[in-house]
Amino acid sequence: MVIVKNSDQLKLMKIACRITGETLAYAHELVREGVSTKFLDTKIRAFIEKQGARPSFLGYGGFPGSACISINDEVIHGIPTEKRILREGDIVKIDVGACYRGYNGDSARSFPVGRVSDEALRLIETTKASFFAGMEKAVVGGRIGDIGSAVENCVTSAGYTVVRQYVGHGVGAELHEDPEVPNFGTAGRGVRLYPGMTIAIEPMVNAGGHTVRVLDNDWTVVTTDGSLSAHYENTVAITANGPENLTDVGDS
Ligand code: MG
Ligand code: MG
Repeated sequence: MVIVKNSDQLKLMKIACRITGETLAYAHELVREGVSTKFLDTKIRAFIEKQGARPSFLGYGGFPGSACISINDEVIHGIPTEKRILREGDIVKIDVGACYRGYNGDSARSFPVGRVSDEALRLIETTKASFFAGMEKAVVGGRIGDIGSAVENCVTSAGYTVVRQYVGHGVGAELHEDPEVPNFGTAGRGVRLYPGMTIAIEPMVNAGGHTVRVLDNDWTVVTTDGSLSAHYENTVAITANGPENLTDVGDS
Protein backbone atom coordinates (compact mmCIF):
# COMPACT_ATOMS: atom_id res chain seq x y z
CA MET A 1 0.00 0.00 0.00
CA VAL A 2 1.23 3.50 -0.84
CA ILE A 3 0.47 6.26 1.66
CA VAL A 4 0.33 9.82 0.36
CA LYS A 5 0.06 12.86 2.63
CA ASN A 6 -2.17 15.84 1.99
CA SER A 7 -0.86 19.37 2.38
CA ASP A 8 -1.90 19.65 6.05
CA GLN A 9 -0.15 16.38 6.85
CA LEU A 10 2.93 17.50 4.91
CA LYS A 11 3.06 20.69 6.98
CA LEU A 12 3.27 18.61 10.16
CA MET A 13 5.81 16.27 8.54
CA LYS A 14 7.99 19.27 7.73
CA ILE A 15 7.94 20.44 11.34
CA ALA A 16 8.72 16.95 12.67
CA CYS A 17 11.54 16.61 10.15
CA ARG A 18 13.01 20.03 10.90
CA ILE A 19 13.10 19.16 14.60
CA THR A 20 14.75 15.84 13.70
CA GLY A 21 17.42 17.57 11.59
CA GLU A 22 18.09 20.21 14.22
CA THR A 23 18.44 17.48 16.82
CA LEU A 24 21.15 15.79 14.77
CA ALA A 25 22.96 19.10 14.25
CA TYR A 26 22.84 19.63 18.02
CA ALA A 27 24.07 16.07 18.67
CA HIS A 28 26.93 16.67 16.22
CA GLU A 29 28.19 19.51 18.44
CA LEU A 30 28.31 17.14 21.40
CA VAL A 31 30.33 14.40 19.68
CA ARG A 32 33.82 14.29 21.15
CA GLU A 33 36.22 11.86 22.75
CA GLY A 34 35.28 10.83 26.29
CA VAL A 35 31.49 11.24 26.20
CA SER A 36 29.21 8.26 26.69
CA THR A 37 26.48 7.28 24.29
CA LYS A 38 24.04 7.64 27.21
CA PHE A 39 25.12 11.27 27.66
CA LEU A 40 24.32 11.94 24.00
CA ASP A 41 20.99 10.16 24.31
CA THR A 42 19.94 12.16 27.38
CA LYS A 43 20.80 15.44 25.65
CA ILE A 44 18.97 14.36 22.49
CA ARG A 45 15.82 13.51 24.40
CA ALA A 46 15.82 16.85 26.22
CA PHE A 47 16.38 18.73 22.95
CA ILE A 48 13.48 16.99 21.19
CA GLU A 49 11.11 17.48 24.12
CA LYS A 50 12.03 21.19 24.35
CA GLN A 51 10.70 21.59 20.78
CA GLY A 52 7.31 20.20 21.84
CA ALA A 53 7.99 16.86 20.18
CA ARG A 54 8.60 13.33 21.41
CA PRO A 55 11.50 10.99 20.56
CA SER A 56 9.96 8.56 18.04
CA PHE A 57 12.35 5.76 18.97
CA LEU A 58 11.82 5.81 22.74
CA GLY A 59 9.83 2.68 23.55
CA TYR A 60 9.42 1.78 19.87
CA GLY A 61 9.30 -2.02 19.89
CA GLY A 62 10.67 -1.70 23.43
CA PHE A 63 13.78 0.28 22.42
CA PRO A 64 15.20 1.84 25.61
CA GLY A 65 16.83 4.97 24.14
CA SER A 66 15.74 8.16 22.39
CA ALA A 67 18.40 7.70 19.69
CA CYS A 68 20.16 4.71 18.20
CA ILE A 69 23.90 5.27 18.66
CA SER A 70 26.17 2.80 16.91
CA ILE A 71 29.97 2.82 16.77
CA ASN A 72 32.40 1.45 14.13
CA ASP A 73 31.30 -2.10 13.16
CA GLU A 74 27.88 -1.48 14.70
CA VAL A 75 25.59 -0.73 11.77
CA ILE A 76 22.33 0.42 13.40
CA HIS A 77 20.23 0.11 16.58
CA GLY A 78 23.06 0.65 19.07
CA ILE A 79 21.63 1.08 22.58
CA PRO A 80 22.94 4.14 24.45
CA THR A 81 24.73 3.21 27.71
CA GLU A 82 26.96 4.86 30.30
CA LYS A 83 29.65 2.30 29.59
CA ARG A 84 30.07 3.06 25.91
CA ILE A 85 32.55 5.93 25.59
CA LEU A 86 33.51 7.64 22.32
CA ARG A 87 37.21 7.31 21.48
CA GLU A 88 39.31 9.24 18.99
CA GLY A 89 39.26 7.44 15.65
CA ASP A 90 35.73 6.05 16.10
CA ILE A 91 32.94 6.71 13.69
CA VAL A 92 29.67 7.19 15.54
CA LYS A 93 26.31 6.84 13.88
CA ILE A 94 23.43 8.73 15.44
CA ASP A 95 19.93 7.92 14.24
CA VAL A 96 17.02 9.96 15.59
CA GLY A 97 13.33 10.55 15.05
CA ALA A 98 11.05 13.26 16.36
CA CYS A 99 7.29 12.88 16.51
CA TYR A 100 5.38 16.16 16.29
CA ARG A 101 1.57 16.18 16.54
CA GLY A 102 1.43 12.59 15.32
CA TYR A 103 3.97 12.79 12.48
CA ASN A 104 7.54 11.50 12.44
CA GLY A 105 10.87 12.54 11.00
CA ASP A 106 13.71 10.05 10.69
CA SER A 107 17.35 10.89 9.99
CA ALA A 108 20.85 9.56 10.68
CA ARG A 109 24.43 10.73 10.30
CA SER A 110 27.88 9.18 10.72
CA PHE A 111 30.29 11.45 12.59
CA PRO A 112 34.05 11.02 12.97
CA VAL A 113 35.34 11.30 16.55
CA GLY A 114 38.47 13.45 16.43
CA ARG A 115 40.93 12.30 13.79
CA VAL A 116 39.85 9.17 11.94
CA SER A 117 41.51 7.13 9.21
CA ASP A 118 41.30 8.24 5.58
CA GLU A 119 39.48 5.01 4.89
CA ALA A 120 36.83 5.79 7.50
CA LEU A 121 36.35 9.26 5.98
CA ARG A 122 36.03 7.80 2.50
CA LEU A 123 33.39 5.36 3.77
CA ILE A 124 31.41 8.20 5.40
CA GLU A 125 31.62 10.35 2.24
CA THR A 126 30.63 7.49 -0.05
CA THR A 127 27.62 6.69 2.13
CA LYS A 128 26.50 10.32 1.99
CA ALA A 129 27.03 10.45 -1.78
CA SER A 130 24.99 7.27 -2.23
CA PHE A 131 22.09 8.86 -0.36
CA PHE A 132 22.09 11.81 -2.77
CA ALA A 133 22.36 9.49 -5.76
CA GLY A 134 19.25 7.73 -4.47
CA MET A 135 17.37 10.90 -3.58
CA GLU A 136 17.80 12.22 -7.13
CA LYS A 137 15.65 9.31 -8.27
CA ALA A 138 12.85 10.02 -5.80
CA VAL A 139 10.70 11.67 -8.47
CA VAL A 140 7.07 11.43 -9.48
CA GLY A 141 6.60 8.61 -11.98
CA GLY A 142 9.81 6.86 -10.95
CA ARG A 143 9.95 3.61 -9.00
CA ILE A 144 11.44 2.43 -5.75
CA GLY A 145 13.94 0.30 -7.68
CA ASP A 146 15.36 3.45 -9.29
CA ILE A 147 16.40 4.67 -5.85
CA GLY A 148 17.93 1.39 -4.68
CA SER A 149 19.76 0.86 -7.93
CA ALA A 150 21.33 4.34 -7.77
CA VAL A 151 22.41 3.86 -4.15
CA GLU A 152 23.87 0.43 -4.84
CA ASN A 153 25.79 1.56 -7.95
CA CYS A 154 27.38 4.42 -6.06
CA VAL A 155 28.42 2.14 -3.19
CA THR A 156 29.70 -0.80 -5.19
CA SER A 157 31.67 1.42 -7.57
CA ALA A 158 33.58 2.67 -4.50
CA GLY A 159 34.36 -0.93 -3.49
CA TYR A 160 31.89 -1.13 -0.60
CA THR A 161 28.73 -3.14 0.02
CA VAL A 162 25.18 -2.20 0.98
CA VAL A 163 23.40 -3.91 3.86
CA ARG A 164 20.50 -5.93 2.47
CA GLN A 165 18.79 -7.18 5.63
CA TYR A 166 17.66 -3.69 6.68
CA VAL A 167 16.12 -1.12 4.38
CA GLY A 168 14.63 2.37 4.20
CA HIS A 169 10.88 2.85 4.47
CA GLY A 170 7.90 5.11 4.22
CA VAL A 171 7.57 7.46 7.19
CA GLY A 172 4.65 9.52 8.42
CA ALA A 173 2.03 8.83 11.08
CA GLU A 174 3.99 5.62 11.60
CA LEU A 175 7.77 5.64 11.97
CA HIS A 176 7.94 2.72 9.54
CA GLU A 177 5.31 2.58 6.82
CA ASP A 178 5.04 1.08 3.36
CA PRO A 179 6.79 0.97 1.03
CA GLU A 180 10.14 -0.57 1.85
CA VAL A 181 13.01 1.40 0.29
CA PRO A 182 15.92 -1.01 -0.22
CA ASN A 183 19.44 0.23 -0.91
CA PHE A 184 19.64 -2.15 -3.83
CA GLY A 185 17.37 -3.06 -6.71
CA THR A 186 16.67 -2.74 -10.37
CA ALA A 187 15.81 0.54 -12.06
CA GLY A 188 12.26 0.55 -13.43
CA ARG A 189 11.06 -2.04 -10.90
CA GLY A 190 9.07 -1.78 -7.70
CA VAL A 191 6.42 0.52 -6.28
CA ARG A 192 5.67 3.62 -8.34
CA LEU A 193 6.37 7.00 -6.74
CA TYR A 194 3.55 9.51 -6.25
CA PRO A 195 3.48 13.11 -5.04
CA GLY A 196 2.83 13.28 -1.30
CA MET A 197 4.81 10.15 -0.44
CA THR A 198 7.38 10.65 2.32
CA ILE A 199 10.16 8.10 2.54
CA ALA A 200 13.30 7.54 4.57
CA ILE A 201 16.21 6.84 2.23
CA GLU A 202 18.98 5.41 4.37
CA PRO A 203 22.03 3.70 2.90
CA MET A 204 23.85 1.45 5.39
CA VAL A 205 27.25 0.81 3.87
CA ASN A 206 29.91 -1.68 4.94
CA ALA A 207 33.61 -1.46 4.17
CA GLY A 208 33.69 -5.27 4.02
CA GLY A 209 31.01 -7.85 3.28
CA HIS A 210 27.31 -6.99 3.25
CA THR A 211 26.18 -9.47 5.90
CA VAL A 212 25.21 -8.41 9.40
CA ARG A 213 24.09 -10.08 12.62
CA VAL A 214 22.24 -9.01 15.76
CA LEU A 215 24.03 -8.99 19.14
CA ASP A 216 22.70 -10.82 22.20
CA ASN A 217 20.98 -7.63 23.39
CA ASP A 218 18.50 -8.31 20.54
CA TRP A 219 19.01 -4.83 19.11
CA THR A 220 22.48 -3.89 17.98
CA VAL A 221 23.21 -4.87 14.38
CA VAL A 222 26.92 -5.40 13.59
CA THR A 223 28.85 -6.37 10.49
CA THR A 224 29.53 -10.10 10.46
CA ASP A 225 33.17 -9.60 9.48
CA GLY A 226 33.82 -6.75 11.94
CA SER A 227 34.35 -4.20 9.17
CA LEU A 228 33.41 -0.53 9.56
CA SER A 229 29.94 0.59 8.64
CA ALA A 230 28.41 4.00 7.91
CA HIS A 231 24.82 5.25 7.72
CA TYR A 232 23.23 8.36 6.19
CA GLU A 233 19.50 8.98 6.27
CA ASN A 234 16.99 11.69 5.54
CA THR A 235 13.23 11.83 5.23
CA VAL A 236 12.39 12.89 1.68
CA ALA A 237 9.07 14.12 0.28
CA ILE A 238 8.23 13.28 -3.31
CA THR A 239 6.69 16.37 -4.90
CA ALA A 240 5.72 17.63 -8.34
CA ASN A 241 8.81 19.84 -8.12
CA GLY A 242 11.17 16.98 -7.35
CA PRO A 243 12.50 15.44 -4.15
CA GLU A 244 12.43 17.61 -1.03
CA ASN A 245 14.91 16.72 1.69
CA LEU A 246 12.87 17.42 4.82
CA THR A 247 15.41 16.56 7.53
CA ASP A 248 18.38 18.37 5.99
CA VAL A 249 19.09 21.53 7.98
CA GLY A 250 22.40 22.20 6.25
CA ASP A 251 24.58 20.74 9.00
CA SER A 252 26.32 17.71 7.52
MG1 MG B 1 16.54 6.31 11.23
MG1 MG C 1 14.72 4.94 9.08
